[in-house]
Amino acid sequence: MSDAKNLLFLPGDGIGPEVMGQVRKIIDWLAKNRSVNFNITEGLVGGACYEAHKCAVTDETVADAMAADAVMLGAVGGPKWDNVERHARPEAGLLRLRKEMDLFANLRPAMVFDALVDASTLKDEVVRGLDILIMRELTSGVYFGEPRGVEDLPGGGRKGFDTQVYTDAEIIRAAHVAFDLAKKRGNKVHSVEKANVMESGKFWREVVTKLHAEEYADVTLEHMYADNCAMQLVRNPKQFDVILTDNLFGDLLSDCAAMLTGSLGMLPSASLSGKDENGKVRAMYEPVHGSAPDIAGQDLANPLATILSFSMCLRYSFDMGAEADLLDQGVQNVLNAGIRTGDIMQAGMQQVGCAAMGDALITELNKLV
Ligand code: NAD
Repeated sequence: MSDAKNLLFLPGDGIGPEVMGQVRKIIDWLAKNRSVNFNITEGLVGGACYEAHKCAVTDETVADAMAADAVMLGAVGGPKWDNVERHARPEAGLLRLRKEMDLFANLRPAMVFDALVDASTLKDEVVRGLDILIMRELTSGVYFGEPRGVEDLPGGGRKGFDTQVYTDAEIIRAAHVAFDLAKKRGNKVHSVEKANVMESGKFWREVVTKLHAEEYADVTLEHMYADNCAMQLVRNPKQFDVILTDNLFGDLLSDCAAMLTGSLGMLPSASLSGKDENGKVRAMYEPVHGSAPDIAGQDLANPLATILSFSMCLRYSFDMGAEADLLDQGVQNVLNAGIRTGDIMQAGMQQVGCAAMGDALITELNKLV
């Protein structure tokens, strides 16, 4: 038997517990069929934590997340907590985990499965075979920059303001991740900012250009303004391999890329730290979608985004590429077999619920081994 691996499970709110329940099935399957054991600890985050502790995540859970080999998160939020004070709102739990774990590298692949090519609003030839990766800087930039606030103006009236700020060190570590990933993929990085109108954008471009010349001259680097990138993502997304960008533009562009695939229920993500003094990389894996309160508790959610996030967890945190490939192939086969949850339902296919989708994947995995 291989050494146990420590996973922290944070199912969160809404459909979070339902989709994470399907990951448990995969973990049981891996234990039985691949002799891989995970030690799972479960914790509260988001609204679920607010109900128990009046905060979005406790110090203990943050400490557990820091100590775990990886964190698997479902989703947080819901209308029930819309009027909770800002610092205790569900999203504050996510932001705190990202900040304290120093998860500066947010990886969001956008892949179009052949079986789902019709789910995209774009033409077949524009998206078929699409496989791009957005590397968004996650812990700095305008979402964290100081000063920020709302102030009274001396002559009357008020102003609201935020600060976009990046140090060279922050840009360099994000760029390293993007270049290293590109080397294992299509060997191309588009670095995206607004160097034409923002000082921080001009600086970002300078720093990326220098790092590229010094260490990654064998990788193709192109620079692109963020507004053009949004347009190009819709016009010709297959020109991209890895897109390197900041926190704010990454937030927008990754949602735009997500829609190329047609379904929020299929999109995984990984957030990684740099190596600590012991060589450990902290990591959190979660689906891109939210807690989907409109379908929560009804066994309607698509668990595949969370399962594909777990596949990224196997690949990046546990170096289990073979198991990750198996899982990805299983997802492909379930779709090819015509099995669909409601969000990706097409005429002539068989509609199933969240739990049945998990079971169907196990059936396909059994066929693969
Ligand atoms: P959402 O992603 O929760 O839902 C958007 C739409 O997509 C809904 O119609 C929903 O039913 C559907 N959908 C989402 N995931 C699905 C799945 N796996 N299977 C089938 N259908 C799915 O976004 P929203 O409605 O804007 O936000 C709902 C709540 O989630 C809010 O409180 C928001 O703050 C929170 N949120 C959390 C995260 C996160 O935890 N990372 C991300 C986005 C939104």
